[in-house]
Amino acid sequence: MKVALDLHIHTLLSPCAGIEMIPINIVTRAQELGIDMIAITDHNAVGNVSSVIDCAKIYAPELKVLPGMEITSREEVHILGILPNLESAKELEAIIHRHLSKVPERDYITEQLIVDKDANFIKYEEDFLLGATDLSVEDISNLVHSFNGLVIPAHIDRESFGLIYTLGFFPPNLEVDAVEVSKFATEKDIELISTSIPYRVPIIFSSDAHFLDDITKPRTFLDLEEKSFDALKEALRNYKF
Ligand SMILES: [Zn+2]
Ligand SMILES: [Zn+2]
Repeated sequence: MKVALDLHIHTLLSPCAGIEMIPINIVTRAQELGIDMIAITDHNAVGNVSSVIDCAKIYAPELKVLPGMEITSREEVHILGILPNLESAKELEAIIHRHLSKVPERDYITEQLIVDKDANFIKYEEDFLLGATDLSVEDISNLVHSFNGLVIPAHIDRESFGLIYTLGFFPPNLEVDAVEVSKFATEKDIELISTSIPYRVPIIFSSDAHFLDDITKPRTFLDLEEKSFDALKEALRNYKF
């Protein structure tokens, strides 16, 4: 079946995301736009993933929600890790938090909200999520793959936190499952990116939504056996160029 994807959506757990990014708003907006599968990818954390999954089960049963995280490397590159299940996402989060840089002087904690499926406040995330880890892009790729997850460098067409601009090149031995371009990327941008990557890799669009209006009509459709992580992994592995 043809499945519309948006594998990069933030919740109100990300300090830079809007307060309206609560589970019900995300799942209903995604469903209205005809998106079949989303990944919740807050910065270096997965605290709201289970709430969005639970909310979708009730209010958007056709929508598949995958656990994910947007991990910051020590070079300040953003890399999406999409995980097969919640348990592995939480285990990965625990490791990432041990590698996160220390907290800034300013008060940040009230900007990092963990809520339940009905958006009731549960707690604040105490680790500062906008810091970088001390892990290289290769370390992050290996770590996510050790959990059988998918490694997708985020918004690779962007100068800030995009892999190619930040490093100045695409590491030839870096193992990724796809690369993501922002929803604004043009055909020309994509052509340029393809030539910068030393091997063939699927290029997908995501919204990188921090606010509700950022979630827009999907631009990436994949032919999947079913709406599941395993089917997504299979489709990326067998991607026809
Ligand atoms: Zn990012
Ligand atoms: Zn993001």
